[in-house]
Amino acid sequence: MGSILQAAHHTVFIALGSNLGNRLENLQSARTRLSEQVRIIKDSQTYETPPWGIHDQPAFLNQVLQGSTTLSPLKLLDFLKQVEKEMGREKSIRFGPRLIDLDILLYDVRQINTPRLTIPHKRMCERAFVLVPLAEIAYNLSIPGTERTVEEHLRLLDSSGIIQFDAL
Ligand code: AMP
Repeated sequence: MGSILQAAHHTVFIALGSNLGNRLENLQSARTRLSEQVRIIKDSQTYETPPWGIHDQPAFLNQVLQGSTTLSPLKLLDFLKQVEKEMGREKSIRFGPRLIDLDILLYDVRQINTPRLTIPHKRMCERAFVLVPLAEIAYNLSIPGTERTVEEHLRLLDSSGIIQFDAL
């Protein structure tokens, strides 16, 4: 009898953002492409959020997915960068407008700190546009390296500008 080797499945949370072109279609297209390597388990609603960092640019649509993948953290990052590239994202200025932005928020309970990759995502706990959709699908999740859950982090932020897009 041959041995059955099964790759381990990892739970990941991925943030999607778009503020150029048809933003809803961009999120949809990213989800379709992501599903080649990440089985999507939960997805949040879509939220419209004011631009962050640079204010003179269109509003973003943001969404968070929970998925399961056999990719390692760095392979997952490579895959997300490839999807961004295939979708036509050019190298852009930091915090500037973008067709699609894909970030790894969490990877199991791992804490990773390398020049290319930081997990949990470095700024996720300061950003209501990340924590509002994340709380919708995982409010009780503890953020590794902090003493708080998603909901507890979110309570410390002002999330007043973040509107459920489907409700507009
Ligand atoms: P961005 O401008 O959001 O596409 O991110 C620029 C760079 O951030 C990427 O090329 C990654 O090397 C780096 N990075 C560090 N940590 C993360 C993470 N958790 N998810 C995605 N990118 C990350």
